[in-house]
Amino acid sequence: MAERYEVIIAGAGPSGALLAYHLARAGREVLILEKHRLPRAKPCGGGVTPKAARLIPFPWDEVREDSFCSSALRFRRRVEISWPYPVCHMVRREHFDHFLVRQAVRAGARLIEGSPVTGFEYDTRGVVVHAPGGPYRGALLAGADGAHSRIAARLGKRFSGASGAFAAVAEVPRPSSAGAPAYKMLSVDFSAVPAGYGWVFPKRHHLNVGVYTTDPRAKNLKHYLRRYLEREGLREPRVFRAFPVSVDWTGDGPVAGDRVILLGDAAGFADPLTGEGIYWALLSATLAAEAVACCGRSWDTVGLGYRRLVEDRLQPELRRLARLARMFYWVADRAVPFLETRPKLARDFWEAVYLGHYDRLRLRTILLQVLRG
Ligand SMILES: Cc1cc2nc3c(=O)[nH]c(=O)nc-3n(C[C@H](O)[C@H](O)[C@H](O)COP(=O)(O)OP(=O)(O)OC[C@H]3O[C@@H](n4cnc5c(N)ncnc54)[C@H](O)[C@@H]3O)c2cc1C
Repeated sequence: MAERYEVIIAGAGPSGALLAYHLARAGREVLILEKHRLPRAKPCGGGVTPKAARLIPFPWDEVREDSFCSSALRFRRRVEISWPYPVCHMVRREHFDHFLVRQAVRAGARLIEGSPVTGFEYDTRGVVVHAPGGPYRGALLAGADGAHSRIAARLGKRFSGASGAFAAVAEVPRPSSAGAPAYKMLSVDFSAVPAGYGWVFPKRHHLNVGVYTTDPRAKNLKHYLRRYLEREGLREPRVFRAFPVSVDWTGDGPVAGDRVILLGDAAGFADPLTGEGIYWALLSATLAAEAVACCGRSWDTVGLGYRRLVEDRLQPELRRLARLARMFYWVADRAVPFLETRPKLARDFWEAVYLGHYDRLRLRTILLQVLRG
């Protein structure tokens, strides 16, 4: 006899963990099936923006390595911007993700590690989910299984390398020589890779250095990352990983089916402009929890409810970012030097892109000025 739950969640990344937490707190019977044993590594810059942090409903200081109030933006020159408040928090994903899922377990969710979901089918009362030790029965299945989601593929989502975005990341020892930069701020460099940027995110014991591109022709990210490391005067990486960033440029991929919903990377919810995905993973989990809360026991209505919430509160912003990304990266070689000589505008740009202050978004105006110039 298969074990029965109300909601089965595939994947214990930020989206799956936060949904499990909210549902367990609301008294739902929740099972999380995670492919790997935890903590597991995840290729990521580990930058958590304030808008993402606001969606975490419990203190998480123990996994926050640092918080930065300043950043450097670079193309030809370097412009430094400071704020009186943090603009990005630093985490290591293996610790951060593990911490989130532990909160879900404390709230009452059941977690099975080392248990990849291999498929699912429908029965009269919901879904039957296949995984080692299973099958498991649930009224609802949440696909939070990342950029290569099996569940999304089953709903018809196509992950096309040609239209997506890519990132590569390396862990580099902090330079110890006298005179080496102190790395006390975030740094992004739009000349590191075509149609994207390079970053240096300082962590407690190392530097997280990476490149992100929206140009499928710039796929040889190892080359760009090495060149960027060299230019920054940094040594060979300790760990190097490349991975697709789950960008859905049109925003019309499936987010829900019959008794199945998709969250975070599985749904293609990453920001095309910056590659940020943790905020979108947490936002989609929050909306999914809201959709479940509204349904009572009418599980057939969750998919529609979730789709509506996503359409109202998530997709408009992502679509706008997709348009901006296309425009911005088209003229980045002129737009960023333009920003470098206008620190006030550079600050607006950062706040719009990374803090979500779209009301102050003058990027369009900037781009138009650059184009006219
Ligand atoms: C190089 C790189 C750098 C990035 N840097 C940043 C950054 O600095 N800040 C930011 O906000 N975003 C960043 N992102 C994006 C961010 O990592 C993702 O958007 C985010 O992890 C999405 O969370 P998620 O919960 O949807 O998926 P994930 O974090 O990918 O979690 C999915 C989970 O599902 C599990 N899983 C997979 N298949 C199965 C299966 N069949 N059954 C069960 N479990 C399964 C996986 O093991 C994993 O634990 C970066 C991405 C890349 C590639």
